[in-house]
Amino acid sequence: MSTILNAATYPPTLTEEETANLAVALRDWSLSHGLIIRAPADTNAADEASVHVPLTLHPSPFPKNLFDQALGLQTVFNELYAKVADDSEFLTKITTELADVDDFMSDLWKLYLEVDEITGGVPAQALTLGLFRSDYLLHTTSTAEPSIRQVELNTISASFGGLSSRAADCHRFLRKSGLYGTAAGSEFLKDETMPVNPSARGLAKGLGVAHNAYGVKDFIVLFVVQPRERNAFDQRWLEYYLLEDFGVLSVRASLEDIAEFGELDSITKELKYKGRHVAVVYYRAGYTPADYTSPATWGARKKMELSKAIKCPSLATHFAGAKKVQQVLIDELVLAKFVPNADVRDQLKNTFVDILPLDDSELGKKARELIETCPEKYVLKPQREGGGNNVYREKIPGYLKALNDETLWRGYILMELIEPPQDVRNAIIRAGKVTEGNVISELGVFGCVLWDSKTHEIKQNFEAGWLLRTKFADSEEGGVAAGFGSIDSVLLI
Ligand code: ADP
Ligand code: MG
Repeated sequence: MSTILNAATYPPTLTEEETANLAVALRDWSLSHGLIIRAPADTNAADEASVHVPLTLHPSPFPKNLFDQALGLQTVFNELYAKVADDSEFLTKITTELADVDDFMSDLWKLYLEVDEITGGVPAQALTLGLFRSDYLLHTTSTAEPSIRQVELNTISASFGGLSSRAADCHRFLRKSGLYGTAAGSEFLKDETMPVNPSARGLAKGLGVAHNAYGVKDFIVLFVVQPRERNAFDQRWLEYYLLEDFGVLSVRASLEDIAEFGELDSITKELKYKGRHVAVVYYRAGYTPADYTSPATWGARKKMELSKAIKCPSLATHFAGAKKVQQVLIDELVLAKFVPNADVRDQLKNTFVDILPLDDSELGKKARELIETCPEKYVLKPQREGGGNNVYREKIPGYLKALNDETLWRGYILMELIEPPQDVRNAIIRAGKVTEGNVISELGVFGCVLWDSKTHEIKQNFEAGWLLRTKFADSEEGGVAAGFGSIDSVLLI
């Protein structure tokens, strides 16, 4: 790998004064351009109060060939997960395994079955929209060339596409302003090595394309959101581009709101919210049990699922993003069912690390052994999204034992740890304060796919920009809003 990943050559050293100037410029550019997040609730700030998003001072280096590889794979992953979502037999098998051990998955699956029963297996809307994000870390070993390895693929509420475009713009602005100085390492910062990121418009295009497919101009896109969402501006950018590029209006509502003001026409299956017809339902909530605050919120999800509106995602597509599905797809025979072409399959498999179940199968037995002999090589994951749920390394055996009931282990997967390079440096600015350190970056690639679940015909399939999130190397998780990580952009090397 190019030596630029090495802290000795990048980022360029700045004087204290240069760093302070850069921090002010970055903060003000962010505030002026909506690269912002609502102030944390614990500061008692009003809803009007917002702060700049935690951001790296410099773009972080990323090998260009691996960046291109990740972007190139996105349409393949889009198609794979669309196929998985359409295979109800496959999903049924997986979810029955999880049913007794994971309440949330089990509740979602019950709803899926209930809807299937009501519609007699013929949903009011055959089209489904996926706005996916496939996440990767760089994997380095002493013997092999660096590679990208998939962390997970998100099929619901994949966030930061709105702000990520701005983060790249911000770094590009700082470079053009000359604020990165002229010290050694600054020569890597160039227009060509700092790509524009089309993720905000790309995701808006996904929603716009689905809206067009529904085919009624005046219908809205319903953004299902969490109340007092801190990351609302990330979502707002999609709303603004949807209006600007497609002339489509959107309305934001929580599951509680939809329970109260959403209406399903029992004959036409049209969905209305506060009297306005809905063409597309875009979930930026509903991925975590905490969003379902009452039985009525489950009723809201059911109403939308039963409707003729295009869902992003449908319940089946939401399921396809379960970590258990990712584990099962590691198996060559399973993957071959969805990806018959061996070359394409190899391209996907090259990004996988080993993932094992914790059930009674042979692989499950192997996983139990590995937990005893080398837990330091693994991360344990439950079927949850949104960060902060994983158990790392030596903590795994104790955590599992504390569950008492071994049948509950089935709700988890055991994933080999990816080993990103350890000697990359950057600084993160959060609430105006600059902190330097060794960092790890996670690349996310957005993808849009619109397909017909009845005929399995793919109507649209495109890659839609990217996200780089960077955290300090000593932090296990990378949540930006949670306070662990920051948004970044790539410096291609
Ligand atoms: P979530 O659904 O909560 O986002 P992830 O699977 O993305 O769950 O895990 C959260 C974070 O944990 C990732 O962003 C990454 O920083 C770290 N992580 C997850 N899996 C691995 C892995 N196999 N190797 C190294 N780090 C990992
Ligand atoms: Mg993740």
